[in-house]
Amino acid sequence: MPRPILATIHVDSLKHNLALAKAQSPGARAWGVLKANGYGHGLERAMRGFADADGLALVEVDYAVRLRELGWTKPILLLEGFFDPQDIATMAEHNIQAAVHCNEQLAWLEAAQQDLSARGVRFDLHLKMNSGMNRLGFMPQAFAAAHARLSAISCVASITMMTHFANADDTAHPLLPIAEQIRRFEAGTAGLEGARSLSNSAGVLLHQKTLRNDWIRPGIMLYGGTPGGATAEQFGLQPAMTLSSEIIGVQDIADGELVGYGSRFQAEGNMRIGVVACGYADGYPRHAPLGTPVLVDGVRTRLIGRVSMDMLTVDLTHLPQARVGSKVVLWGRGNPIDEVATAAGTIGYELMCALAPRVPVVEG
Ligand code: PLP
Repeated sequence: MPRPILATIHVDSLKHNLALAKAQSPGARAWGVLKANGYGHGLERAMRGFADADGLALVEVDYAVRLRELGWTKPILLLEGFFDPQDIATMAEHNIQAAVHCNEQLAWLEAAQQDLSARGVRFDLHLKMNSGMNRLGFMPQAFAAAHARLSAISCVASITMMTHFANADDTAHPLLPIAEQIRRFEAGTAGLEGARSLSNSAGVLLHQKTLRNDWIRPGIMLYGGTPGGATAEQFGLQPAMTLSSEIIGVQDIADGELVGYGSRFQAEGNMRIGVVACGYADGYPRHAPLGTPVLVDGVRTRLIGRVSMDMLTVDLTHLPQARVGSKVVLWGRGNPIDEVATAAGTIGYELMCALAPRVPVVEG
């Protein structure tokens, strides 16, 4: 018998969340961001969920090619610009766009342009500004020169100017508020022709009135997580992944008994505890502390003891009806992933992406 653990992907919720992102950003086109295997939801499932997106954005060239093989005909963007000279031929062959972020990439495109133009290749590209995150992109003061260089490349059909926010989820960040990144973006792009792309999920959800986008780039919100601030439910988002399992053992323990590796939890009075078939080898965070929310038969209870490789333990003292076979939701419908992540000191992104390959996945 297989271990009773399952990830259910709700493709209808992916569709719902995308529709919500588009409704928040009238007039803008939407990339559906599906890097890292659709944030752990599966590339093909995410592609179907985002059928109404204007394009799909990711970072892996091989997954971009896979999207074409799966039949995606609308634009594809290599979001973080991880391409090298060898990838340019693949991009041309499969009509894949990229975000250009450094002089080396400009030089590779310059070197390839004659051959590409002779073959009739026309690239729509994004040009990335480093407006303060200091990860990838051209500095604001170097942006116009990079734009001119890219515009002069014969096989470049269009340029979308983009930047990425470090703190869009924190409206009052004391060191790098979003307003400062916008100011730098506006200064660096002043007088330049081209479409604009600024908003990630936090931009879409929290700053739609201040940001002018031709393309939005939502990721986490499409999967029903929030980048921070309010809860997904408050935004009307639906979880797209439910990780569920079952109770596989019940113990009645006396006051003072110790639970699990390291005997980290001590019973506060006589207790009833349940053992759940989910552990850190399934992607559940090992460092989740006492009190992390878990749903048993639709009732919220708490994690107790240390998470082990294949199992974790929950408090059933106030759930006398719970027994072996009772349904458990680790995160997803009824147990928001953001709450689990916050309790565990991480973010919903990490939990989704870390879903282990051994967990069977179904749609529902
Ligand atoms: N745009 C870029 C450049 C990104 O790197 C990402 C993801 O990290 C996104 C958009 C989507 O971000 P989020 O998942 O926070 O919406």
